[in-house]
Amino acid sequence: MEVKTIGVVGAGQMGNGIAQVSAAAGLNVVMNDIKDEFVQRGLKTIESSLGRLVKKQKLTEAGAKEILGRIKPSVNLEDLAAVDFVVEAATENVSLKLDIFRRLDHICRPEVPLTSNTSSISITKIAGATGRPELVIGMHFMNPVPVMQLVEVIRGLATSDACFDLTVELAKKMGKIPVPANDYPGFIANRVLLPMINEAIYCVMEGVGQPADVDQVMKLGMNHPMGPLALADLIGLDTCLAILNVLHEGLGDSKYRPCPLLRKYVDQGWLGRKTGRGFYQY
Ligand code: NAD
Repeated sequence: MEVKTIGVVGAGQMGNGIAQVSAAAGLNVVMNDIKDEFVQRGLKTIESSLGRLVKKQKLTEAGAKEILGRIKPSVNLEDLAAVDFVVEAATENVSLKLDIFRRLDHICRPEVPLTSNTSSISITKIAGATGRPELVIGMHFMNPVPVMQLVEVIRGLATSDACFDLTVELAKKMGKIPVPANDYPGFIANRVLLPMINEAIYCVMEGVGQPADVDQVMKLGMNHPMGPLALADLIGLDTCLAILNVLHEGLGDSKYRPCPLLRKYVDQGWLGRKTGRGFYQY
């Protein structure tokens, strides 16, 4: 099946990035969110991201216009009735995602693959909310999407080879490098990353080090381009907490318990860059 039009559910930091790389790959995009202001904010982010590429002379003004012109805003999930492929990138919440997939299963044509950018939620569980589990797969992009090369491609228990192959092909078309992973909590990326971020937060809570010092140790000592706390702020502390909860519940091991300080920050609404304050101020 040739994918010409892609539906992206959620126009937040991941969704708008996925819409951008899809449109840049020549696909038509329907970018959906629950409110027009969220879709418009997503479009603004894409516009400035493309603007930076124009400034760096990696893209012409006309090229940027063309890419933006391929993205159709939507606040109605029914607008995805005609798309050939879906990437869901809504908030990391199990019941929300199950509800979206139930609705997509009714709205989209039966042969259309429904993929999720979830960081940690079981693909098999999401697939179970649909009548097409063979066409449900994880397509886990990294943040910021236009910059990062990796896409983890996660097969659920019933995912078909054809669906896997098509997803891999599409990721490559978007300029990404797909890597396969199996469906266990956190897959590969977040199974390894989140315990490190959580431990860095424990270091702050216990007074082992200030955020800047913890980050500096990991940058200078381990050659990480970005410290774990700056990265947590970039990911979003609510998303980090949601992923740790999935690891903790899904694997049943206390080593994944979310740090109480992380919970406090999320309760306070200090979610990182997207709210202007997390472990750092923006
Ligand atoms: P975000 O908060 O920036 O954006 C989420 C968007 O989803 C919001 O605009 C929200 O309004 C929208 N949304 C909520 N319910 C919706 C619905 N019913 N229909 C349509 N849109 C809806 O979050 P994000 O960082 O973009 O994360 C989105 C997904 O991507 C999550 O599953 C997250 O785990 C995953 N992810 C995040 C990162 C990261 O670094 N932030 C990396 C990889 C994957």
